[in-house]
Amino acid sequence: MITAIVGINWGDEGKGRMVDLLAENYNVICRYQGGNNAGHTVINEKGKFILNLLPSGVLREKTINVMGGGMVIDLEHLCGEIKGLKEKGVLLTPANLKISDKAFICMPYHKKQDILEEDRLGDKKYGSTRRGIAPVYGDKYMKKGLRMGDLLYPETLKQKLIDLVEWKNLTFKGYGSDGINMADVLRWLDEYGSVLNPYITDTTEYLSASVRAGENILFEAQLGALRDIDYGVYPYTTSSHTLASYALAGAGIPGARLDNVIGIMKAYSSCVGEGPFAAEMFGDEGSALREAGAEYGAATGRPRRVGGFDVPASRYGVQAQGADELALTKLDVLSYLDSIPVCTAYEVGGVKTDRFPSGDALMRAKPVYEYLDGFKTDISKCRKAEDLPGSAVKYIRFIENAVGRPIKYVSVGAGREDYVVMR
Ligand code: GDP
Ligand code: MG
Repeated sequence: MITAIVGINWGDEGKGRMVDLLAENYNVICRYQGGNNAGHTVINEKGKFILNLLPSGVLREKTINVMGGGMVIDLEHLCGEIKGLKEKGVLLTPANLKISDKAFICMPYHKKQDILEEDRLGDKKYGSTRRGIAPVYGDKYMKKGLRMGDLLYPETLKQKLIDLVEWKNLTFKGYGSDGINMADVLRWLDEYGSVLNPYITDTTEYLSASVRAGENILFEAQLGALRDIDYGVYPYTTSSHTLASYALAGAGIPGARLDNVIGIMKAYSSCVGEGPFAAEMFGDEGSALREAGAEYGAATGRPRRVGGFDVPASRYGVQAQGADELALTKLDVLSYLDSIPVCTAYEVGGVKTDRFPSGDALMRAKPVYEYLDGFKTDISKCRKAEDLPGSAVKYIRFIENAVGRPIKYVSVGAGREDYVVMR
């Protein structure tokens, strides 16, 4: 079985939590895009973990974890993550963590460039996490990137760097900033590269063998459909492909096939950073939802923007992901509401539409809200569909019907076992 777990919305739907739960049935867990701009929260018997780069399967004893070539890796950050886990008793060795030689290195100069540009933009900023993600993907496509495999050939790496440092300093000069120097860059690469060296491998070879052996492979996406570089709310997207259709290519087995796509969708909406977010709630209504859902970024601590469940956006996300089945997360958060607001359509220029528009039309979209009965009771202890109050089931069925795919799992708490199987 080859499965992808992907986000339907703007990210932070609870993918990490669902990967940690479902990883039990898989031999291999792979991240295939993005970098340490992700924040995947996992809470289980080992404690609470926020994973940025490592797949959320690392907390299961028997899984092999893969970081695919579609990723961008800040070496220093990854070393910190591995060390942090070791302190909590989770040991990662080359036997259970495999890093693709084709993944790109997110360098300190990418971070510097990201910060300089976000500061230059001022009010027009995109809401970058300032971790160098856009610059490193930009360099990849400019063919000025360094890959993890380059760490295995230090002399060649040094030659490549001479040109790269010269090129980057042209950019930094333009910002009126200090340049970078070779010695610092080399020291950083050596310090953190030497720790990661043993983990670097040809993940294509490894995964191809896993497929041939009939192993179960699970792909873990970062962010959600609406942040995909091509199909999301460009330019307020991330810089990589967040869609299930990229999973095989980003992990290293472009010729294989996905058997199943599980879309993770939140029972209401949240969005970190700038960009169009039609269903957004403000004032007391927004604050109450933010507090109830503890909506603060796992990677950055930023307060997340919040709103009711967004039907046009989520239906679009479900279709873009090609989701076979869905998990509806954080339903417990809505238990404080007398009636539950759902954004069922948009109004664009005075015309009602249930389509998810793009570009300028999306920027001008206003939400059309409808209200469903609240359940006004703590559902966090529910473990079977029969335990859920009638109004909660009605809400689930309403959403299922609106987005056009079955909701298999409903999550009612952050812990591993806090979920209900609906079908
Ligand atoms: P990801 O980026 O998609 O992995 O999601 P995040 O980890 O960034 O955000 C999800 C947040 O909601 C985390 O703090 C989780 O611990 C928490 N969470 C996940 N599922 C549930 C749930 O069903 N109920 C509640 N109350 N919290 C949840
Ligand atoms: Mg997150």
